[in-house]
Amino acid sequence: MVAVTIWNEFRHEREEQAAEVAYPDGIHEAIADALTDEYDVQTATLDDPHHGLTADVLEDTDVLLWWGHEAHDEVSDVVADRVHRHVLEGMGFIPLHSSHYAKPFTRLMGTSCSLQYREDGGTERLWVVDPGHPIADGLNEVIELPETEMYGEPFDVPEPDRQVFISWFEGGEVFRSGCCYRRGNGRIFYFRPGHETYPIYNNAAVRRVLRNAVEWASPTEGAPRTFGERS
Ligand code: ZN
Repeated sequence: MVAVTIWNEFRHEREEQAAEVAYPDGIHEAIADALTDEYDVQTATLDDPHHGLTADVLEDTDVLLWWGHEAHDEVSDVVADRVHRHVLEGMGFIPLHSSHYAKPFTRLMGTSCSLQYREDGGTERLWVVDPGHPIADGLNEVIELPETEMYGEPFDVPEPDRQVFISWFEGGEVFRSGCCYRRGNGRIFYFRPGHETYPIYNNAAVRRVLRNAVEWASPTEGAPRTFGERS
C-alpha cells in the first residue's frame, strides 16, 4: 500500500475562527479523510518535533502532501533539505495552494514561484486541459468551486512537463492550477485549490484529484541510478 504523509502548517485553524469553522480538525485531517480508504496515511504538522518529518518518517513516505501559508520561514532548512533530497530520490511531492512558496517547492523549481491573488470568495472553474492524464481520471471536464481565493498569472514557475488544469476566475483571471514536474526520480504535482477559510478539501471532485495525484506521484521501481566515474 502506498505510504502517504500529509504535512500541514496547522496554524490558521487554531488561530482564526473562519479557518476553524472550515476545518475543525485541521486541513491535514480533511485531506487524510479523502485518502485513508486507499492509502496508508499519516499526518505531520509544523509544531511537531522536527515538524514531524524526521529521517525515519520520510524514509517510510512514498508521497508527501504539503499545505503551508503563513509560516513558510519557520520550516527549518534541515527539514526542507531533507524533503528536497527525498524528492530527488523518488518520493512523490504534492504542494497545495499557498505552498507555492513552501521551501521545498521553491528549491525544486528554482524560481520565485510568485503569483497574483485576491481573496474575494468568487467562483473558480478548473478546466481539465489534459483529459487523458491519470490525474484527470474520473473527472468531468470542469470542476466548479463556488467560493475561492483567486490566484492569477503570471505564475513564476518553470514550464510544467504536463499541465492538467487551468483555472478561470470570476474576475477574468486565469491560472495554471495543476502542474506536473519531474525532478531527479521524483514526481511533483502542484495543485492550486485549498484556501484555509473555504472547505474545498471536502469537495468530491477535489478529493478525487488528490487520490489520483497520489497514485500518479507514487515512486516506481525504475533502474538503479549510478553516477561518477565508470571503469
Ligand atoms: Zn489562500
